[in-house]
Amino acid sequence: MDKNSKMILLEDSIKVVNAIAGDIALSTETVDIRQASGRTLASDALSKLQLPPFNKSAMDGFAVMADDVRDEYKVLEFIPAGSVPSMPLSAGCATKVMTGAPVPEGAGKVVMVEQTTETQGAVKVNDHAGRANICFKGEDIQVGDCVLKAPSLLGALEIANLISCGITEVDVFADIKVAVVSTGDEIVDDASKIAPGKIMNANGPLLAGLCEKNSLKVTSVSVAKDNRKDTAKAIADAMDAADIVILSGGVSMGDLDFVDTAMGDLGLKVHFNRVAVKPGKPMTFASKDSKMVFGLPGNPVSVYLMFHLFVLPAARAICGIETDKLIELPLSEDFKRKKTDRALFAPGKIITDGKISQVKYHGSAHLIALMKADGFFLVEKGVGSISADEKVKFINVS
Ligand code: AMP
Ligand code: MG
Repeated sequence: MDKNSKMILLEDSIKVVNAIAGDIALSTETVDIRQASGRTLASDALSKLQLPPFNKSAMDGFAVMADDVRDEYKVLEFIPAGSVPSMPLSAGCATKVMTGAPVPEGAGKVVMVEQTTETQGAVKVNDHAGRANICFKGEDIQVGDCVLKAPSLLGALEIANLISCGITEVDVFADIKVAVVSTGDEIVDDASKIAPGKIMNANGPLLAGLCEKNSLKVTSVSVAKDNRKDTAKAIADAMDAADIVILSGGVSMGDLDFVDTAMGDLGLKVHFNRVAVKPGKPMTFASKDSKMVFGLPGNPVSVYLMFHLFVLPAARAICGIETDKLIELPLSEDFKRKKTDRALFAPGKIITDGKISQVKYHGSAHLIALMKADGFFLVEKGVGSISADEKVKFINVS
């Protein structure tokens, strides 16, 4: 497949990648819930507890019977959170309870402490208005109920919920291993090696950082020289230890762009190598033996966009997680362009009124501009202008 082959539409290219990813079978393992951050749940997590485990006071106050409305009550006992009442309520009696404490048997309501005046052994209620202020036993979840369905990404909120439900271990998919290879004779990792014609390697740390942020396990970060042999060796080494290889650079029509050739040398199947999208047209996607290899263009803005558009959704698809569709938001100002032969992703910022404001940038090498953006808005193929307040699809990467 050479670079004169047909350019694939953006939506078709995404489908191809996700279909290959969906066919990859990943092993699973059982891990301690406290070690599961960033992992993907492989089987449904079922609650081991009933929540709340008892009728619980939602306020600091005085528990009374449901229809027992009067000005003053005798106070039976004081129950802080963590203790249990020793006697049931009866008419004319109240139990002082703190937030989180079990209410006594017979309680229908907790009058907030703010609405009362406590005297020796008794309490006056100045205002009976308000809710019951009781969280009822089992109203959140029952033993055996599904707390979280698989596949789901486990973040702090999910882990806190599973721990609350008494879950100590979870089945998760194996880590997804990613190797990053930056190509180019011009790139250096060491600032002291900067010399005429050389630039710092931005894509290596960019891709490694994006992987880490998204809990993909980076197995190696390497640099390949612009020759066929070095590029093939770098890809082969990367594939040895990873499920996904992300290359940057060397996929265009230049005399020293060897990524596609090297993929061929290694027997990889190239599924497409030109996508009708800007930036990112010369992107190559290949696979072999359940491993995916992305040849992203060299310019860092393309790398940043393509990671979010292709690589991350593919990594999620391996575990069966479908990436959310793009959100739609109105554009804050008019947009115009001359050439409409490709879909365009332009950097944008979500501003306070919920609109997308265009971020000034001068092309796919302008990585600095992206620090002002929250993501990219999509201008579909064939569309030359968008009016202010018209809705655009937005990929939020912040
Ligand atoms: P290429 O696709 O290899 O022709 O690269 C396109 C542009 O991206 C060139 O200006 C390269 O110098 C630049 N580039 C390639 N790789 C990197 C990198 N790792 N970090 C920063 N810029 C890069
Ligand atoms: Mg290059």
